[in-house]
Amino acid sequence: MATHITDACINCGACEPECPNEAITQGSDIYVIDGDNCTECVGFHEKEACQAVCPVECCIPDPTRVDTEEQLIARAIALHPEDEELKARVASGDFPSRFRN
Ligand code: SF4
Ligand code: SF4
Repeated sequence: MATHITDACINCGACEPECPNEAITQGSDIYVIDGDNCTECVGFHEKEACQAVCPVECCIPDPTRVDTEEQLIARAIALHPEDEELKARVASGDFPSRFRN
């Protein structure tokens, strides 16, 4: 699943710089995640970085956007075609993923 932000968001901005994919922006009312750019942090972190810093824990899985780990790591590579370290982690089969905790 992509992660999404609920209306419990207090607009603190803490999550935005933590996203490895620059998927988070300030919306008109609350911060928002572009699900097309969210990989649930697969490939970069062991859990969702936005949720890890959110003071109200409102960055949660979007039940309308279900993705497998395979789909998410493919998205990560597509979003970072120049990231050789990411490619090496994926090639080794040893990459951080919320599915592996
Ligand atoms: S789960 Fe990770 S990739 Fe998705 S919006 Fe949050 S920080 Fe970005
Ligand atoms: S960290 Fe949480 S409360 Fe702060 S802007 Fe992001 S989603 Fe909203």
